[in-house]
Formats: sequence, structure tokens, C-alpha cells
Amino acid sequence: MNPLSNPNVLFLIVLAVVTLGYTWSCAVYPYRPCRSCRGIGAFRSPLLRAIRLCRRCGGTGRTLRAGRRAYNSCLRARRSYRDLRDRDRRDENR
Ligand SMILES: [Zn+2]
Repeated sequence: MNPLSNPNVLFLIVLAVVTLGYTWSCAVYPYRPCRSCRGIGAFRSPLLRAIRLCRRCGGTGRTLRAGRRAYNSCLRARRSYRDLRDRDRRDENR
């Protein structure tokens, strides 16, 4: 029997391909245009037509994508755990 004929196996394969594709795309393209200023990074003030930087993106016009934010958060958590573990080991050896 061909395992691809089972719809559950096919669904899991499609899910894995989509997940890997999104992970790859977040690694290659970590930024997306800012939702507030649409990637411009600045606004025109309505009164004096002065240029004001976008508060959401700080004037860069881009923000991190959700997948990249999650990855960075995992990285920070892992790093802080590792630092705490190393510190505890160092204290035990004294
Ligand atoms: Zn912005």
C-alpha cells in the first residue's frame, strides 16, 4: 500500500513543507514593511506639512516578521538559560 494514498500522511507532508518554507523565508527575509507607515518610515504632519518619523518602526519603514520575532525570542531564552546554567556551574566549582 502506498503511504501517500493516506490523506493524513499527505496532510503532514504538506504541513512540513509549508513550515520549512516559512522558516526559510523568515531566515532570508526577516523584515516586512511597517503596517503603520506602509514602509515609508515617516508621516507628513497635517498642519505644517512637517515630516515626522513613524513611532512604530522608528523611521526605518520595516518591522520584524512574526516568525522571526518568535525565533529571536527563543534565541534569547536559550541564551539566558545557558548563561544561568554556566554561572551556577562556575559557582559550584568554587
Ligand atoms: Zn513605520
